[in-house]
Amino acid sequence: MADKRVVVVGGGVAGLFTAWDLVRAGGVEVDVLEMSHPGDGSSGRSVGMVETQYFEPADVAVRAYGREVYSALVAEHELTFTHGGYLRLGRTDADLERFRESIETQRAVGIEDAVVLTPDELAKRWGHLVVDDLSGGLFGAWDGYVDGYEVCQVLARLVRAAGGRVHTGTRLLGAERPDAWRLETTRGVFEADVVVNAAGSWAGPVGELLGAPVALTPQLHGAVTVELAHDVPFTPFIMDYIPGSGVEGVYFRSERADQLIAGLHTEEAIAPTVDPDVALGSLPMPEVERIIELLLPRLHNVDDMAIGRSWTGTYPMTSTLSPLTGPHPDQPSVVYAAGGGGNGIQLGPAIARHAADAILERPAPFGEHALAWQVTAGAAI
Ligand SMILES: Cc1cc2nc3c(=O)[nH]c(=O)nc-3n(C[C@H](O)[C@H](O)[C@H](O)COP(=O)(O)OP(=O)(O)OC[C@H]3O[C@@H](n4cnc5c(N)ncnc54)[C@H](O)[C@@H]3O)c2cc1C
Repeated sequence: MADKRVVVVGGGVAGLFTAWDLVRAGGVEVDVLEMSHPGDGSSGRSVGMVETQYFEPADVAVRAYGREVYSALVAEHELTFTHGGYLRLGRTDADLERFRESIETQRAVGIEDAVVLTPDELAKRWGHLVVDDLSGGLFGAWDGYVDGYEVCQVLARLVRAAGGRVHTGTRLLGAERPDAWRLETTRGVFEADVVVNAAGSWAGPVGELLGAPVALTPQLHGAVTVELAHDVPFTPFIMDYIPGSGVEGVYFRSERADQLIAGLHTEEAIAPTVDPDVALGSLPMPEVERIIELLLPRLHNVDDMAIGRSWTGTYPMTSTLSPLTGPHPDQPSVVYAAGGGGNGIQLGPAIARHAADAILERPAPFGEHALAWQVTAGAAI
């Protein structure tokens, strides 16, 4: 029997993890179409955090799966992973209660290294942090960061080595489906039985081309380097944001002993939706100022710091605030692997697993959470 032909649109983490799952499963012919080069979208512009410090069992389970997949990439394929730790800050007793529940939830999926730290313990470990206003922190020692661009390069190499094809400079322009898919691109026509929409922030326009629209709400985010006049002890990735809080929070981590990377994070749709082709460059000055305004009170003795370089990228957010994975309800031969938002690097393996399972007709591994990520039709916003 001929292999099922799958074309994956998008060479970011979502598309390449999906392609890798498919080529490893066998029985599938895989072509990845990337209009630029692997990692040139949001994946290469992220700060690469991979962690499990979440609250809902399903949110923890999909990240625990990501942890396993990244661990395998490190062990077997030499991906670089900096295990600098992840610390979520809490301000109230209610935050602490959620942190304790998170520890139990993480243990239930085999994660043993997460701990709740008191303000005294925080101060002892990281003396340069201001902790007076905190009730404590949720700390995962294993957690850390990858380089999203490197992840894409490693995956593209693995996909090619396993017989898949990754086409750079190949943009999907149009599609028709008389019988099988005929996909018109800047580099000729590709035929497929199934098309995976892994086009990140462009998944809206790509979905329209495929007659399988969804509501995407890409948002502009960025990060800035903070140059310190003196060395500070290694700072884990510190997240001063609680999911569901309704306000964005600051995050920062050490890049070097005298340099931090910092940005603003939210998992809610509180920033304006942008066109995926929005001009990318440095962070607008008001946002840099807001980062510094939130960062400075959190650190002792950094009055002499200076702002370094900054960059921007888009979070591929969805109207449901969750990833979209699986077949489109109106066009089941279009499978989504999209909507990672501000968490697409850590969720990439699970997003890909859902998409690949739908194509290979394997049972979904995360139980009911697969339903929460189900694709619903919607107009691109
Ligand atoms: C500043 C910043 C910090 C972040 N930090 C983190 C973090 O710490 N941890 C985390 O987990 N996530 C983080 N994220 C989010 C993460 O980067 C994204 O969720 C993730 O990269 C999305 O991956 P993707 O594969 O869906 O999209 P992308 O990486 O954007 O890939 C989509 C690809 O599709 C291609 N494409 C689009 N249209 C077409 C077409 N018509 N034809 C062919 N190709 C096409 C694009 O060129 C692009 O390469 C951050 C994002 C930003 C911007």
